[in-house]
Order: sequence, then C-alpha cells, then structure tokens
Amino acid sequence: MAPGIAQAVRPICSSLYASLYRDTRAGAYITEDDKAKIQAINESTQYDSRKKAQLVFNQVLDARLRNADPAVAAHVNKVREQVTRTIGADINGEYSIITRHAEVIVPDYLAESSVEYMVKIHELEHAYQDKFLRSHGRLFLEFGTKKKMLLESDAMALEWNYIRQIPVKEREKLIELIQADTKMTGGKLSLIAALKNADHSFQQFVDGERALGRYDNVSIAAENKVMVELVGGIIAAWIIGRYHPIHIIKPAN
Ligand SMILES: [Zn+2]
Repeated sequence: MAPGIAQAVRPICSSLYASLYRDTRAGAYITEDDKAKIQAINESTQYDSRKKAQLVFNQVLDARLRNADPAVAAHVNKVREQVTRTIGADINGEYSIITRHAEVIVPDYLAESSVEYMVKIHELEHAYQDKFLRSHGRLFLEFGTKKKMLLESDAMALEWNYIRQIPVKEREKLIELIQADTKMTGGKLSLIAALKNADHSFQQFVDGERALGRYDNVSIAAENKVMVELVGGIIAAWIIGRYHPIHIIKPAN
C-alpha cells in the first residue's frame, strides 16, 4: 500500500472510528466498582507499593477483558501468566506474534513496580489484538461492534488507563528514581513523560510520547495500513495477525 494513499485515507478513517473508540480510550470499561476497588488497594496499609502495583494492574486488565470475547480473554490471560521479565538498563517491552509470548525489560530497581506493570499491560493489549485479529478477522469490518483496535494507539490507551490509577505520590517517587538513573538512555524521557502526563487527556498523553519519539512513524504506518485495509474491505486481520510483527515500545532519546 502506497504511503501516500494511507496518509490520505487516515484522517477520514480516524474521524469515522473516533466515536467508536471513545469508550476504550476513555477507559469506560473501568466501572465505578473498579474505581472503588482500586482506591481501596491504593489506600491500603496492608500492601507495599509493589503489591499495590500488581493488584491495580489486575483490576484494570480484568476490567479491560470483562466484555472481551472469551477466546480473546483466555489468550490474554494465558500470556499474562507467562510474561517474562528481563533486567536491562533501558525499559522496553515486546509481544511476539510468532511465539505469542510477552516480555518486559526493566532496570532492577523498577522490577515489580508500576512501571513494569505499565509495560506489561501495554503488551497485553497487543496480545488481545493478536488473538482478536486471528480469531475474528472476518468481523473486523463490523464498525458497530466493540471489536476494534488501532494497534499501537490502543495499547497506549490501556497503558494510559493503567498509569492514571497509580497514585500521584507513587508516580513522583518513580520519576525521582528514574531521573537519578544514569544508565538508562533510550526511553527515559518518554517514560517520565508518560508518568507525568497520564492525568491529561489521552490525546495529550499520546502527543507527549510522540514528541519524545514513541508512537513513531513505524507505529503510525502500521495503523494506516490497518485503516486503509479496513476501508478497502481487505482481509487485513489475517495478513497483519500472521505476517506483520507488532513492534512495541521503541527506545527513544
Ligand atoms: Zn505497542
């Protein structure tokens, strides 16, 4: 697909889908009940910050999966149980559509922190997309359904929805640690921005990350591809689900 055509069609598609995606983007799947539970976790004196990070992650992900197709939810839950953590200088994540396995890479001091879960939940949205595209490619064109996705944007939306649930004080603590980290190079600024900007609108959050090199042209090209194929009625799901590696967080400077 010529990039020019993709660029031309993208705005039309964007407006077409904007309303459909609003619920997911705004985190409408996080109910009042979820919010109350998250608040109770965050305010609990019984858990340390790592346990809280995990419990809030579970609550947000369960909310995301609540109305998912059972097959999709089962796949995401399976991937969720098997996420591998690798200790590295920089922060990164990947979901492989070949091995159907997710990996997060974090510096040791961020292991099991909210930052690790933030990367994890992002990758699990890609696992969701992968399973959905493989299972329901033929439904991909059902505009009226909730079964839709925009690849990187939606993964960032779930990430944004998770970060928003982390208490500001905890985020400030994490930012201080990250700022003091002299070994982290790629992605340091975008990570700090993500923790700072999650209280803003999703668009502002994405714009902030983009300005720092995340959600880059490769991601946008992938989304253009999906949208053009949607409009053309091509079997995009099959092609992307099988042959198009979804790359995750790009290191940024
Ligand atoms: Zn991603």
